Amino acid sequence: MVILRIFFRDSYAMNNCIFCKIVDGEIPSSKIYEDGEVLAFLDIHPVNPGHVLVIPKAHYENFISSPDEISGKLLAVAKKIGLAVMVATQSSGFNLSTANGAAAGQEVMHLHFHIIPRKDRAEHQPWNQGVYAPSEAQKVAAAIKEQLQ
Ligand code: 5GP
Ligand code: ZN
Repeated sequence: MVILRIFFRDSYAMNNCIFCKIVDGEIPSSKIYEDGEVLAFLDIHPVNPGHVLVIPKAHYENFISSPDEISGKLLAVAKKIGLAVMVATQSSGFNLSTANGAAAGQEVMHLHFHIIPRKDRAEHQPWNQGVYAPSEAQKVAAAIKEQLQ
């Protein structure tokens, strides 16, 4: 039963996944790189021209749920593409990011890394950063370290 439920949940996700449709060629995309496991194409709504999405061809919901071999391969490809994007768009930097989960802003539930070329530091929107209350940092660090044991 559990296996059936997992199978139907995963096949439902894949059948309704826009990036799986791009992998299958059902939806067109501006492809820039492809190998056995990875596909990279232009984001349809670029932050800047040359904004690329790097995805696994197999459906994994996010970074955490993907096997290490796949996330590692994606990062290696992202490194190569990041350099190509910078040179091609005459940019001096790029952001590499992934949203893990809806709370982090993930909208397409198929793992993807964004490569966003940047020319000018001023156009980059930094996220809001705060400060820790006394001893809060210690507590948070300890809680995270405990999870790593
Ligand atoms: P997220 O918000 O999940 O990190 O990013 C999803 C990204 O996918 C967005 O930047 C969005 O513009 C892009 N996107 C959504 N649908 C399509 C599509 O059909 N084709 C392409 N090329 N990009 C898409
Ligand atoms: Zn998918």
